[in-house]
Amino acid sequence: AKEPVRVLVTGAAGQIGYALVPMIARGVMLGHDQPVILHMLDIPPAAEALNGVKMELVDAAFPLLKGVVATTDVVEACTGVNVAVMVGGFPRKEGMERKDVMSKNVSIYKSQASALEKHAAANCKVVVVANPANTNALILKEFAPSIPEKNITCLTRLDHNRALGQISERLNVQVSDVKNVIIWGNHSSTQYPDVNHATIKTPAGEKPARELVADDAWFNGEFITTVQQRGAAIIKARKLSSALSAASSACDHIRDWVLGTPEGTWVSMGVYSDGSYNVPAGLIYSFPVTCQNGEWKIVQGLSIDEFSRKKLDATAEELSEEKALAYSCLS
Ligand code: NDP
Repeated sequence: AKEPVRVLVTGAAGQIGYALVPMIARGVMLGHDQPVILHMLDIPPAAEALNGVKMELVDAAFPLLKGVVATTDVVEACTGVNVAVMVGGFPRKEGMERKDVMSKNVSIYKSQASALEKHAAANCKVVVVANPANTNALILKEFAPSIPEKNITCLTRLDHNRALGQISERLNVQVSDVKNVIIWGNHSSTQYPDVNHATIKTPAGEKPARELVADDAWFNGEFITTVQQRGAAIIKARKLSSALSAASSACDHIRDWVLGTPEGTWVSMGVYSDGSYNVPAGLIYSFPVTCQNGEWKIVQGLSIDEFSRKKLDATAEELSEEKALAYSCLS
C-alpha cells in the first residue's frame, strides 16, 4: 500500500476549503489509490468552524483519509506536508485600499513562507489560491529561499477551465474534446485567455478552435471578457463566490503537476517566469505548461500575434506594479 501524502489546506474553514477538503479526501487530487492525511489551518476566530469541518470529515468515513490535523498553529499545520494549497487570505472589504489588502496578505504569506520552509517535507509542492494569487506566491517564494522556485505556483487553472467551458458551450462540443487554451499572466481581470492554439477533437481529427467558430470576433471580444469576469458573474448569481469550481480546479492543478499532463495537452499554471515569451523574469506569471515526473515545463515556441503580444504585456505590467506595491509593504 502507498504511504499517505500530507496535504495542507490553509483557510480550510472558508468557502473554498469546505468544497476542497472532501475532494482531496476522496482521491480527486492525488488519485483514487493514494491515501492522504489532511492538515487544515485557519485563524483563531475560525477555530470552531474548522473543528466542525473536521467532524464532518470523520463522519464522511473516507476510506483514503488516514488522518486529520485541524489547527490554528502554523508550525503544526506545515510540519511534514508534501503538498500545500494556500487558500487563506485577507479578503478585500468594502472601502479598503488595494495597498491595505496587499499589506495584510504580504505579512500572512511572509510568515507562512517561513513555516513551510522550516517544517514542510523536502520537495513540497505549493499552489497559492488566495488573491492576489500571483503576488502572494511571489512573496512566499521570496521568504522561503530554500524551497526551489519551481515548487511554488499559483492557481490559474480555474480561468483555464472556464475558457474550455465557454468554448464547449459556444461550439456545442464536449468540454473533454477541447484543449490547449492558454491563460497568460495575472489571475485578475487583466489575464489573457488565448485560443489561438486551442483545438477541438472532431470525427475528422483535431481542428483549430478558430476554424470551427462561425463568428471569429467572438474569440477576440465576448469570450475574453466572459472568462475574465466569470467570478463576478457567479457572485452575482449565487451571492457567494465560486468555491466549487475553484476547489475542483485546485485539484486539477495539483493532479496534473504530480501525475503528469496527457501527451499533446498543456494546462495553465502561474509559475516563476524565466523570461520565456519576453515576459519579465522574476514575476509569477501564468504560462502554458506540460508536466512530467512531478515537474512543469513552459511550452516553448508558440506564435504570438500582435493582438496577443499587447495583452501579454499588459498583464505583465500589472504584475510588475503589484510586485512593487508588495515590496513597498515590506519596508
Ligand atoms: P474563500 O474560501 O471564498 O476564498 C479564499 C481565497 O481564495 C480568497 O483570497 C479568494 O479571493 C481566493 N480565490 C481565488 N480564486 C477564487 C475563486 N474562483 N472563487 C473564490 N475565491 C477565490 O474565502 P472565505 O472568506 O470563505 O475563506 C477564507 C478563509 O481564510 C477563512 O476561513 C479565514 O478564516 C481564513 N483566513 C486566513 C488568514 C490567515 O491565514 N492568516 C487571514 C484571513 C482569513 P477573493 O478575496 O478575491 O475572493
